[in-house]
Amino acid sequence: MELNLDQAYSEARRELETAAGDPQKIQALQVHYLGRKGVLTQFLRSIAGLPPEQRPAAGQKANAIKQQLSADFDAAIEALEGDGLATQDRIDVSLPGRTEATGALHPISRISAEICAIFSKMGFDIVEGPEVEKDYYNFEALNIPKNHPARDMQDTFFVSPDVVLRTHTSPLQVRTMERQAPPVRVIAPGKVFRCDSDQTHTPMFHQVEGLLVDENVSFGDLKGTLTAFVHQMFDEQTRLRFRPSFFPFTEPSAEVDILCVICRGRGCRVCKHTGWLEILGSGMVHPAVFENVGYDTGRYTGFAFGMGVERVAMLKYGIDDLRKFFENDLRFLSQF
Ligand SMILES: [Zn+2]
Repeated sequence: MELNLDQAYSEARRELETAAGDPQKIQALQVHYLGRKGVLTQFLRSIAGLPPEQRPAAGQKANAIKQQLSADFDAAIEALEGDGLATQDRIDVSLPGRTEATGALHPISRISAEICAIFSKMGFDIVEGPEVEKDYYNFEALNIPKNHPARDMQDTFFVSPDVVLRTHTSPLQVRTMERQAPPVRVIAPGKVFRCDSDQTHTPMFHQVEGLLVDENVSFGDLKGTLTAFVHQMFDEQTRLRFRPSFFPFTEPSAEVDILCVICRGRGCRVCKHTGWLEILGSGMVHPAVFENVGYDTGRYTGFAFGMGVERVAMLKYGIDDLRKFFENDLRFLSQF
């Protein structure tokens, strides 16, 4: 009898070890050994048939083994639940936290805002206008009549014979002067469109237009204003060069170069070894434009200028391919 009990226990232990990790097998074994009709229960019942003097010792032994075996099964089940937690619900408190990805301004928006902020401090108001524009405002009122050769300079998207996607922000000059009498001091940022696409041209890009009209405005005011702007946009050491140019709506006209921000004038690939980089176009407002809006050309003079925002951003950040601004590659954009 005692031998059988020890044998049953060691057999149960062995079977429990082989069943480790398998919940169904462990449960079946538990029923087999400890259930109401289990091996241990039958032992305890059979004690009644023993001679009276043997019963207490046999009972104690059987109960001790039953308790031990119950503890063994509990331990096996606990180990099982521990494994389950490891793969499902356990929290690794040492893992780094998840941060929310925060957005930021696109470099073009950032530069556009920076340009506007510099001119705002000089007293310029910000104005906006339609991107789908009448031919009149985009061309005719700016001294570019139909069949004028200057129309060939701009590859225009036509919506209808008299409506275009604006090719520059200059229509805002006319729209502003129609609305208000001098003095005028405005800056106009916005999208412009041209039928053109390669490494240095995109069908849509951004410009900022500026216009100042008052009595006694001279080319010296134009130079002073743009020099102050460039010094704030880049740095005080950035030199400017005004080159004679042609625009139908300004006379005289000048293109403005800045000393190459990469090589400081020694010559490099970006400035094509000239030491200078073109940054904007400018000039004194053409009297014909003033006549179109009813300004007194004998009393008022003014200057206008326009610059490409992408161009300024490329120079400021040292970027050599315009298309990078429009690819929306987060690795590129997150640098700013
Ligand atoms: Zn250079």
